[in-house]
Amino acid sequence: MQNMVILGATGSIGASTLSVISNNFEAYSIYALVANTNVDKMLALCELHQPQIAHMVDANAAKLLQERLSPSSKVEVTTGEDELYAIVTATCVDTVMAAIVGAAGLMPTLAAVKAGKRVLLANKESLVMSGRLFIEEMKKSGAQVLPVDSEHNAIFQVLPESEQQRIGFCELKEAGISHILLTGSGGPFLSSELSSLAQMTPAQACKHPNWSMGRKISVDSASMMNKGLEYIEARWLFNASAEQIKVVVHPQSVIHSMVQYLDGSVIAQLGNPDMRTPIAHCMSYPQRIRSGVEPLDFFKVGQLSFLEPDFTRFPCLALAIDACEQGQEATTILNASNEISVAAFLNNKIKFTDIAKVNENCLSHVPKQALNNIDDILALDVQSRIYATEWVNKI
Ligand code: NAD
Ligand code: MG
Repeated sequence: MQNMVILGATGSIGASTLSVISNNFEAYSIYALVANTNVDKMLALCELHQPQIAHMVDANAAKLLQERLSPSSKVEVTTGEDELYAIVTATCVDTVMAAIVGAAGLMPTLAAVKAGKRVLLANKESLVMSGRLFIEEMKKSGAQVLPVDSEHNAIFQVLPESEQQRIGFCELKEAGISHILLTGSGGPFLSSELSSLAQMTPAQACKHPNWSMGRKISVDSASMMNKGLEYIEARWLFNASAEQIKVVVHPQSVIHSMVQYLDGSVIAQLGNPDMRTPIAHCMSYPQRIRSGVEPLDFFKVGQLSFLEPDFTRFPCLALAIDACEQGQEATTILNASNEISVAAFLNNKIKFTDIAKVNENCLSHVPKQALNNIDDILALDVQSRIYATEWVNKI
């Protein structure tokens, strides 16, 4: 029996994780569900899944949840930073699903890593912000980090076992690997008129052709910033250099990524685009469990196609690849700026095409101080947000 904490339980990954748990209730128990403000959703989850603890980051939400739970409920409601760290580091916890969206996920995810937990990593932003430190902490504590992000999970699945055992420290060349081929659908605007992008609404940006996801990552997919963040994520997880990572646009999202070996072999992982597959893989690794996902029907798929990424259409992808080359100061700035610009777009304050403009401006103007520890990273994150907000207000 694996005892689990789900960070970001009320979100899209949270829902998929709980669905996999429901399909395999004999093997997993829920110690705690963690969310920010969504009381209605958390209340429903508590009634259905009966976790030991329901933690709301927002104190007011915790109070409301407590009031609305039936008096006979055994679920303990908590709030507060110390309480959250106590949950992820509790000795009874085996596995932490890290699925809070954005930089807010960094500290609790890092706490789970430091405590040596098995960490199922969906929160890519934490690696984008703190890559080196994250990997060093992993090594120190011996925490096992398994990639939930479908592309990284696919790559993990097709790596030789030797490299699966040294995530963060892979030696790709030694393992006979020439390239990691990171696939991406290109999102909802792959073939829209370039001149129409400035008029695209949040609803259009969030309407992904293949995946159903939270709003922030959906907008990131429309701008292909998501692929950029994943490029940085792959750099850290697989210890890959710029020459070793290629982005391949694959509109059907059937191949979830590939590894190219020096003998000419390419090994891919395929499946229907449903996050329950990578989640189930991480939960049960090295075994396999039922995820509830329909088997892939090749006759229905019919065709698979591939394109080179278009950096004019997707300037955010170019910015992220460039930031990855520049180093961690740049990726921390870009991540913070992108959270601010995407939120501004979702609130109808700026246009879709302004997201890249704000991000580019932040990357060139926020001073890049050296990052020696987590406090430096958090300070640069705050400073970049202030700068990005000023830019948003100028538009
Ligand atoms: P979502 O918006 O659906 O859910 C976000 C969750 O985070 C919610 O439970 C919310 O309560 C919680 N949260 C937000 N702010 C918080 C805060 N300050 N403190 C604590 N909790 C907070 O997002 P999602 O689509 O489930 O994505 C979650 C993460 O997984 C993101 O990092 C995303 O990039 C990654 N991811 C998602 C998918 C997907 O298919 N949805 C795929 C790959 C990776
Ligand atoms: Mg992904």
